[in-house]
Amino acid sequence: MNNDYREVNQNEPEAQQIYIETPIYKEAVSHYRTTQYYFMSFNSCKIVCGFALLYMNHKQIYLNYWILAVMFHAFIMIIIHKNHLKYLAMNKRILAYKLDQIMVAPSVEQVIEQRKLNILSRQIKLEIVKLTIFGKWCCRVIAIIYQIIFGYGVYLFCIYYSMKSEELMYQFYFLCAILVISLYQFIDLYLILVFAILGSPFLIILSCYYCANLFSKEQQRNEIKTRLQAIKYKPNLIEGEQECCICRCPYELNEEVVILKCSKLHHYHETCIMSWININNTCPFCRKSI
Ligand SMILES: [Zn+2]
Ligand SMILES: [Zn+2]
Repeated sequence: MNNDYREVNQNEPEAQQIYIETPIYKEAVSHYRTTQYYFMSFNSCKIVCGFALLYMNHKQIYLNYWILAVMFHAFIMIIIHKNHLKYLAMNKRILAYKLDQIMVAPSVEQVIEQRKLNILSRQIKLEIVKLTIFGKWCCRVIAIIYQIIFGYGVYLFCIYYSMKSEELMYQFYFLCAILVISLYQFIDLYLILVFAILGSPFLIILSCYYCANLFSKEQQRNEIKTRLQAIKYKPNLIEGEQECCICRCPYELNEEVVILKCSKLHHYHETCIMSWININNTCPFCRKSI
């Protein structure tokens, strides 16, 4: 009875194996889709608010130009997100193959870790950005444009504080909201920038000190190199072992040899001791200063 059962199992045709997407991939795709929808609704919100604010104030002022720029950017972003979603819908399975997220059915229930999910979602995003018409460079250019709009916003913010006209109140709130969100989006970048600016005097002092230190050491070394007199090797000129204490090679006739002042027994090849001095200016044998 048992044998029969095993036989039936082994004879199962392998051709019937079905390849399906892994559960984590499905989850990551829906995660990615949700974030895209979130960005699209956020950008639509910007456009709607922009129209309302432009309608409320007909005066040709810089704040309105800035709102127009923000709206234009939001519009482009919506097109890009839509394009990415369309690409995903058409190439979901190809992407799964590419990201190695295909397995033989039936799927095993697995615990989906949030960290793995985030990584996979980011991978999907990178793949899509790489492969669509609005590729990596286009996204970068748009990010730079956004930074310029943001910079201009900060400039307007300063101007507004110097004049404080009451009729521009809502535009000003809109400006503040966008600035806060932009700041939040790139908070790590701005923090690095702030720290770099705050820390630059210390960095400059530190690098000056380092350069000065390096320079004085270099001078010291050059001074030592000129002071050390090499002699041409003859067996009767040198005491003790007739070999270099650094490379342990016996001296050959007429080779350049340096005897240090610490002891007549501490002698080296000129080339060996010169390269040693580049690292350390003490005798390699007894550690006395050269
Ligand atoms: Zn040597
Ligand atoms: Zn020595």
